[in-house]
Amino acid sequence: MSAMFTADEAAEILDATLRGETPDERGRFGPFGGRYVPETLVPAFQRLEEGIRRYLHEEAFQQELQRELREWVGRPTALTFAAQLSKSWGAEVWLKREDLAHTGAHKINNAIGQALLAKRLGAKRVIAETGAGQHGVASAAACARVGLPCSVYMGVVDMERQAPNVDRMRRLGAEVVAVETGDKTLRAAIDEALRAWVTDPQGIYYLLGSAVGAHPYPYLVRELQSVIGRESRQQMLDQAGGLPDVAFACVGGGSNAIGLFYPLLGDDIELIGVEAGGTGDGLGENAATLATGTPGVLQGAYTIILQDDDGQVQETHSISAGLDYSGVGPEHALLQAIGRVRYVSARDDEALEALEELCVSEGILTALETAHAYAAARKYAQLNPGKRILICNSGRGDKDMSTLTEYAARTERHAGA
Ligand SMILES: *Cc1c(COP(=O)(O)O)cnc(C)c1O
Repeated sequence: MSAMFTADEAAEILDATLRGETPDERGRFGPFGGRYVPETLVPAFQRLEEGIRRYLHEEAFQQELQRELREWVGRPTALTFAAQLSKSWGAEVWLKREDLAHTGAHKINNAIGQALLAKRLGAKRVIAETGAGQHGVASAAACARVGLPCSVYMGVVDMERQAPNVDRMRRLGAEVVAVETGDKTLRAAIDEALRAWVTDPQGIYYLLGSAVGAHPYPYLVRELQSVIGRESRQQMLDQAGGLPDVAFACVGGGSNAIGLFYPLLGDDIELIGVEAGGTGDGLGENAATLATGTPGVLQGAYTIILQDDDGQVQETHSISAGLDYSGVGPEHALLQAIGRVRYVSARDDEALEALEELCVSEGILTALETAHAYAAARKYAQLNPGKRILICNSGRGDKDMSTLTEYAARTERHAGA
């Protein structure tokens, strides 16, 4: 991918990005992004695009959003100096605490923003997709808050694996729609949600959960998640006395990462996205899309995806459900292509080890997704001593307790055998 642009072209694209010119009016981030959807869906996407243009940056809407972020989500979230981690890594480590946001992760920033938008657009009900259930829970909570009925599409395989989240969504008043088609997981859930949207594009609002999909979702989700980077930037100046040398975020679809990175693109800060390296480098063993994928169209956008030589989308593996996705947001594909953000991966076992270290040294049980960012940051600190490091602590790990227990039991059995 490094050969895609000359240095001059890359610098020009970054300048355009800093001027706020990405995506362009066709929803393109350089060659990536766009809108590849069936004819039947075009009016729904156009309506949404118009609604965003009209309301998202309007003063009354922004005031309402800021109030909800402050009083209901609990923003600004803290910036925490990690004293023990800093000492053992030989670095200065700062954590942006999205785990302290309502419902336990950054996902709520996007969910409440879109729920308020749905209300403005006059939608009668909201639909959402979910894989592991985290976005479903955030959507259910946000819809309850703004007073809109919510249906969450979820594959039956995921419903079984994530039963506690199904319960949480129902308690928050959402209907959980069991998806029996396709792979019966996230990809099928998105397809079914889109099918439902077509039946009533005026009355239904589709609340998508990451910076992926057809235009305008990658743009909309970035705008709503950029609060992470804006707050971090100001808090680093206030608390650390300066900006970080380097910032890390884990990348599934890429929403917490773009939220942290976008407001920092113009600063002299090295930006590193961390994907799931799974159990190894083989096809199907990881979800390291940007590291090993190739360009193609997935769920409405031209981006980097994991596919075989025939263009069949590959199954992925990660210990963290939130990173287990065969695509990535198109803006990340561009940021990699112009060399502004570097994308690396961390394996399952490295993430687990980092999670344990963070628990005992800072008293923070982080999400398995987030643990990948720590694993990469730790490696970086070893190679580059004395750096000021910012890590997006995207969510809390309570949801992962059963996975952690299972994994511990499995490795004990291996050790015993
Ligand atoms: C869902 C999730 C992620 C991955 O999603 P992105 O859109 O890549 O941010 C990361 N961390 C946590 C805690 C999550 O719940």
